[in-house]
Amino acid sequence: MLIDAQTGVTTVDLHFANELRKAKIPVILIANKCEGVGTRPGFYEAYELGIGEPIGISAEHGDGLIDLYSVISTLIKDCQDKEDIGTGLPRVVTKNFPQKNDFSKLQIAIVGRPNVGKSTLLNCLLHEERVITGPEPGVTRDSIAVEWKWQKRSIKLIDTAGLRRPSRVTEKLEKLSTSNALQAVRFAHVAILVIDGSVLAERQDLTIANYIAEEGRALIIAVNKWDLVQDPSKDIKVLASRIERSLPQVKDVPIVKLSALNGDGVNSLMPAIIKVFAIWNKRLSTGPLNRWLKDVIERHPPPLSRGRRIKLRYITQVKARPPTFLIFTNSPSGLPKAYHSFLINGLRKQFGLKSVPIRLNFRRSKNPFVEKIN
Ligand code: GDP
Repeated sequence: MLIDAQTGVTTVDLHFANELRKAKIPVILIANKCEGVGTRPGFYEAYELGIGEPIGISAEHGDGLIDLYSVISTLIKDCQDKEDIGTGLPRVVTKNFPQKNDFSKLQIAIVGRPNVGKSTLLNCLLHEERVITGPEPGVTRDSIAVEWKWQKRSIKLIDTAGLRRPSRVTEKLEKLSTSNALQAVRFAHVAILVIDGSVLAERQDLTIANYIAEEGRALIIAVNKWDLVQDPSKDIKVLASRIERSLPQVKDVPIVKLSALNGDGVNSLMPAIIKVFAIWNKRLSTGPLNRWLKDVIERHPPPLSRGRRIKLRYITQVKARPPTFLIFTNSPSGLPKAYHSFLINGLRKQFGLKSVPIRLNFRRSKNPFVEKIN
């Protein structure tokens, strides 16, 4: 069932949701037009339909499709597992978000400027087990998806360099490679941003890193060509502070120093990715979240807004991948930006949400949904 998150839930939507609730078929609830910064109010209204957790997508921009794919693939698996498809299916599948499936195929995009060593890194990771499966659907032709197994875990690596030969690298291709990388990020769970350690982070690297965070993906930075670095301890400090300053949305991004050419440090990459991926998937229950919120408000109450006290009544995690929270308040627009950031940093610290972007939204608590979740 598709709703328009820009318009919000309509009476027609409510009618169809009622019908679907009665039908003995699985339902996937999609809130469309969720592109751009901040989630649309209609996304939260979709919960009121009572047919499960909505998936926020943008059909026009291709955002959120990865979540939709994983729900659909769980559903297909469920169908295959059940002998009696007609009666045995769960009525609402999206209520049980596919945690199991999340780990069954981890999708990783390798992105970065040309010549930083993406292909070399890919080859180094794969050794001889390389299987090229062809271009990833929806991603431009220069990307290539590689099926891979790492410690019995199925992985799909999306290499944005593809099979392009260095001789074909021209200025024009540099542009293409960037947009191609950006598309691959949308299809990934985790993005490895490869940067050239002998140059350190250039503006373009940081632009890509910001894009990864904006897309809500988990991020790892692989500093390649570490074998060429003259003063490692100084350079890593410079790099870490550049990243810290230019990436306000994500904190404590893992930085893995390596040399794809000689293999040094490459073994640390996958464990770091698995760690970040688990954080990206994390779901926190409302009990600890609300205990934390109460404590924060007691110690640092929100400032007054036009002479009125801002009340933060209730917090809940509405979505994982990346962790997305909703706070019900009497004044959704009254909270200053600094307090918003203070809350995000607090969440990050309290619940160990390192290296992934966190989304925090506010909603007026008059909404009937509050009564339902209370
Ligand atoms: P891509 O365009 O990002 O895929 O980059 P490539 O993998 O084609 O590598 C570009 C150049 O950098 C090649 O000449 C590689 O041999 C070289 N290179 C890649 N990794 C390393 C490394 O760790 N150390 C050094 N010294 N050179 C590297």
